[in-house]
Amino acid sequence: MLKIGCHMSTAKGFADVGRTAEKIGANSFQFFTRNPRGGSVKEWSDRDISAYLAFADSHGFVPPLAHAPYTLNPCAKDEALRKFAFETMEDDLKRLQKLPGSCYNFHPGSHVGQGSEKGIEYIAEMLNKLSDHSTTILLETMAGKGTEVGRSFEELRAIIDKVENKEKLGVCLDTCHVFDSGYDIASHLDEVLEEFHRVIGLERLKAVHLNDSMNVLGSRKDRHEKLGKGTIGLDAFAAIINHEKLRDLPFYLETPNELDGYADEIALLKKLYQEA
Ligand code: FE
Ligand code: FE
Ligand code: ZN
Repeated sequence: MLKIGCHMSTAKGFADVGRTAEKIGANSFQFFTRNPRGGSVKEWSDRDISAYLAFADSHGFVPPLAHAPYTLNPCAKDEALRKFAFETMEDDLKRLQKLPGSCYNFHPGSHVGQGSEKGIEYIAEMLNKLSDHSTTILLETMAGKGTEVGRSFEELRAIIDKVENKEKLGVCLDTCHVFDSGYDIASHLDEVLEEFHRVIGLERLKAVHLNDSMNVLGSRKDRHEKLGKGTIGLDAFAAIINHEKLRDLPFYLETPNELDGYADEIALLKKLYQEA
């Protein structure tokens, strides 16, 4: 069974997202733990969560993927910004215990001129400060725009190496980001996955963001495109979702779409997926 979802708003609660996800053919979804620009969050209602969990259970859903606000910068130069990233993630992780099995994905951050080595140090430092929690944290592969850390498998490996609780640490591979950072998943998927395995280890790969790209290989741009409308192309996505090393992972669309566009892409992916 293809595990598939897209990025969705939880403004009306989790039970509502579950029902909407089901309507568009999804069996999972990704959501921002709070406003993507950071800031406050309203308390999650236990009733809503229970209703969602019951719905998910009876509809064969797999746990959702939580995404940290993308404005957090765990490797900022300014100590107050680093502290804000830590406190936000600590708070999110506490809340996520209500959604068992979900992972928590975040952007490692931007080193803002301090150098990626310093950035890696700060990111690992923050991860090591987080309390023990049941949720697996995922480092997202980044496109490498500006001073983004995580644009190569080696940079992610370097972060992992410095983290003590490696058991609860994984990676989320974003197809647009890795392509923009120079990994040719369109023409050399096997080689890229071999490299991922050699550097990081495929056992750490817990989720995939399915996005086509508006830009060419290695552009370091990070502009998502609808599946099949960009430079990666539909054949590559068919190969990705069916690849023996990837086919059991949950896939999430972050393509520029409204719900009906997501429904179309999900239907297309289901058609392309070869049931084992
Ligand atoms: Fe992301
Ligand atoms: Fe992504
Ligand atoms: Zn992106």
